[in-house]
Amino acid sequence: MNILNIITVPDPLLKTVSVPVTVVDDELRAFMDDMLTTMYAAPGIGLAAIQVGRPIRVLVMDIADEDAEKKPQYFINPEVTWTSDELTTFNEGCLSVPDQYADIDRPAECKLTYLDYHGNPQNVHATGLFATCIQHEIDHLNGIVFIDYLSSLKKTIAIRKVKKLIKED
Ligand code: ZN
Repeated sequence: MNILNIITVPDPLLKTVSVPVTVVDDELRAFMDDMLTTMYAAPGIGLAAIQVGRPIRVLVMDIADEDAEKKPQYFINPEVTWTSDELTTFNEGCLSVPDQYADIDRPAECKLTYLDYHGNPQNVHATGLFATCIQHEIDHLNGIVFIDYLSSLKKTIAIRKVKKLIKED
């Protein structure tokens, strides 16, 4: 398994609207395995394909506690079919915006449909951290990064800090 390169803001690729997957095959599964390896190495709890430069509607996630057993989840062509009126605020971060965090409001719960690792249709009712994380990741598939919800001043500052951080690396 390979660790892939994670792109960071302001890379214009992050604004791409990703295209649906048409075939779930071994090549795609190998790519999702690489995405998961990359996410664990970062470390992070969610990663969208566009964050490693591939504009397809694929996400990997693992929101299990750090010391608990790993619980990888794969979402192909995820689609939100319902969101709760109730909102929740979570201090979000993103592997494409390293070391920057901000409070973001999102629906507290959502329902979604998707294809699993084997290409089988699934649906799930997400709550808590799962709901927040999956909405954050689906945003990536639509070209949205969480700092897009901030004021333009806060967003500019975050991007400037990331650029500085990357340069120092
Ligand atoms: Zn992200």
